[in-house]
Amino acid sequence: MNNADFRQHAHILVDWMADYLENIEQYPVKSPVSPGEIYEKLPDFPPESSELMTAIVDDFKKIILPGMTHWQSPNFFAYFPANSSYPSILAEMLTATMGAQCMIWETSPAAAELEEQVMNWLKKMLALPSHFEGVIQDTASSATLCAILSAREKQSAFKVNFDGFSHNDFRVYCSNQTHSSIDKAVRISGIGQNNLIKIEVDEKLAMEPDKLEKAIRADLADGKKPLCVVATLGTTGTTAVDPLADIAKICQKYGIWLHVDAAYAGTALVLPEFRWMSAGLEYADSFVVNPHKWMFTNFDCSAYFVKEKDVLVRTFAILPEYLKTQVQGRVKDYRDWGIALGRRFRALKLWFMIRNFGVRGIQEKVRFHIKIAQNLSKKIEQHVDFELMVPTVLNALFFRYKPETDQDYDVNSLNERLLQGLNASGSIYLTHTKIDSEFVIRMVIGQTYVMEKHVNNAWKLIQDVAGEL
Ligand SMILES: *Cc1c(COP(=O)(O)O)cnc(C)c1O
Repeated sequence: MNNADFRQHAHILVDWMADYLENIEQYPVKSPVSPGEIYEKLPDFPPESSELMTAIVDDFKKIILPGMTHWQSPNFFAYFPANSSYPSILAEMLTATMGAQCMIWETSPAAAELEEQVMNWLKKMLALPSHFEGVIQDTASSATLCAILSAREKQSAFKVNFDGFSHNDFRVYCSNQTHSSIDKAVRISGIGQNNLIKIEVDEKLAMEPDKLEKAIRADLADGKKPLCVVATLGTTGTTAVDPLADIAKICQKYGIWLHVDAAYAGTALVLPEFRWMSAGLEYADSFVVNPHKWMFTNFDCSAYFVKEKDVLVRTFAILPEYLKTQVQGRVKDYRDWGIALGRRFRALKLWFMIRNFGVRGIQEKVRFHIKIAQNLSKKIEQHVDFELMVPTVLNALFFRYKPETDQDYDVNSLNERLLQGLNASGSIYLTHTKIDSEFVIRMVIGQTYVMEKHVNNAWKLIQDVAGEL
């Protein structure tokens, strides 16, 4: 392919991209293919000689596209969204074109300095404590691992990095609703799954601070070292909000690292009316929010903020000869702010998105998502045959179908069948969670292009499919 071919195919593909997003509702939201179906269509050997771009793109449409789940469909209500937006996609095109490896300042000064400034913007947009310093990580899982490793190094006077564990008596605490990435982080960091203490939750599924303090005291009496508490703003299961201010007080009292996981719900902090969630954040040591979830920025882009940048950098900095530069120490070399050496230019898409939406545009969209979710929440609550399982805090709904009838039935399997029916229709895509072993349908209304009509259509479909069971 030469430059003229590239130009021609790029134009064709840009048209395809615009058509795709314009017509996205025509595709089944959740891919209907069975396991192995796509693999079987792919040849066992790579081509020896060059194939035409037209043939490759044809196969993309014929083979790949039917096996895709359409996350940018406004009828996507599953998991949490992984939103994109037009300005973010355009930035990703430029990022791919420049193909820069932004590991240190010198390998692309603009990438480093733009990252520093958009993290400052984000800090202001979300009203985060002004002493926080931010860095973009690939995912919240990596950010949380960075937090646990930083806490471990700070507590051990930076010894474990060099000597390994002579013995390990660290303990980490989170609620029993916390995301699995915390389990993974304690495993990887050598602290161990059995030293992750899951604190019980209240009726809103938020961590109970009294029970946290009790667990900490018991561990101290037992000679253990409480290392870190992970509080969640918006749990993945049910968007429960842990009482941060109370948890922060306990962490202050016992000198424990406080990491705040706001991967999804942190976006709601753009709205002043939701900043009650972050009361106490000024005492946190680290905080993560994913613009790649609800903030209209293509995956991957996870914003990680820390109170003490020096602890983070001291945990991760390694300086081999081949990475030494003249500007060392005068600039930000973000390879020292996380796990990977290599870094994509992720700040560009965030910058494009924030500028093109404007802070007000972002606020309006987020507020709108919450409003249409609350509207549906009321309808579900008022319906005799449906049951809202937890109060709707943000834009995620948790409900089940429980019709009144004389017949005996298993409400869990009824709702499993309802979910399967809905997803098989191709019209919408929802997922589920379990609350106290009850099967609950989980609907998150936060896709970039979702409108109230999509929610109304989904609600009608839910009632129709339920009525046919
Ligand atoms: C989605 C989610 C994560 C994991 O995010 P990744 O960026 O995929 O690693 C962690 N915590 C919470 C609360 C989440 O909702």
